[in-house]
Amino acid sequence: MGETRVYDMIVVGGGPGGYTAALYAARAGLDTLVREKLSAGGQMALTEEIDNYPGYEDGSDGFTLAEKMQRQAERFGAQTAYAQVERMELTAAPKALKTSEGTFYARTVILATGANPRELGLAGEEALVGRGVAYCAACDGMRYKGKTVAVVGGGNSAAGDALLLSRIAERVVLVHRRDQLRATKIYHEPLIQAENVEFRWNSTVTELLHEEKLTGIRLRDVQTGAESVLPCDGLFISVGRKPATELVKGQLELDAGGYVTADETTRTNLPGVYAVGDVRTKPLRQVVTAVADGAMAVHMAEEYLAGGA
Ligand code: NAP
Repeated sequence: MGETRVYDMIVVGGGPGGYTAALYAARAGLDTLVREKLSAGGQMALTEEIDNYPGYEDGSDGFTLAEKMQRQAERFGAQTAYAQVERMELTAAPKALKTSEGTFYARTVILATGANPRELGLAGEEALVGRGVAYCAACDGMRYKGKTVAVVGGGNSAAGDALLLSRIAERVVLVHRRDQLRATKIYHEPLIQAENVEFRWNSTVTELLHEEKLTGIRLRDVQTGAESVLPCDGLFISVGRKPATELVKGQLELDAGGYVTADETTRTNLPGVYAVGDVRTKPLRQVVTAVADGAMAVHMAEEYLAGGA
């Protein structure tokens, strides 16, 4: 299986950064293949409502936006192949990608593998996924209609999840280890105004209480050490992301958080290899910043293919 053909560019990951790279590459006449595990969109596809992507004045759900990005890139000749990439040889010439469907070769590689939800690491956490523990309010929120849920975290994801859940669940308790949110101000007022949202500041979750399903969580006040039990039907863990960099460890330079070290040029430490979207070091991980990366990466790749740096 696989092909002996050498693509100008293989894009690994079909989120907004990946498909924008594919769009720009295909329009530049580069022979381009997108390798995607399952379906387009990455984390974006799991987002119920995207209101901060320009041009969509009424917002869009992430899945639809992802499909549109894929179709737009394919209109110009980019191809998509569904396969799990198992190993990458990024210093080889051409670069080789070993996948579940064979080995594929390319002159340039764009890494657009994104970042996945971070776990709390509590006993039983993995086993309780789908039975009370969740990482995506947009995906699993509806299961908790009329119920009590807790959300852990203080960033934009946690604030957004708590707001979304306040429209579904009867009671939402936001648990954060600090005494204030880190989320952007736009979330603060609606959360405070929501009558069914409560805050447990300076608190961490120390235990998942359960029978077959989650029945509650044990909380610890980080200032006093006092413990308490919060009975709840669901726990949404929104404590950030971990970059999907397993495949490139040892080849690409990573920062302390595990993100690929690359500035706005998206160039990595290896010639012809670019990192776009949530997987690279950057101060703001958004759809708009991911798509900008995709365009930039192709610009740099074209220079490289033409014999530049
Ligand atoms: P984040 O901004 O890194 O926030 C993670 C939150 O989880 C922080 O409040 C952190 O606490 C807390 N946390 C981390 N580990 C924890 C642990 N073990 N136990 C308890 N709490 C823990 O992550 P994010 O909210 O997922 O956002 C990720 C990126 O996506 C950000 O760049 C964000 O701006 C972007 N995003 C944007 C939007 C939007 O604009 N609509 C929506 C979602 C995400 P500390 O505060 O104490 O560190």
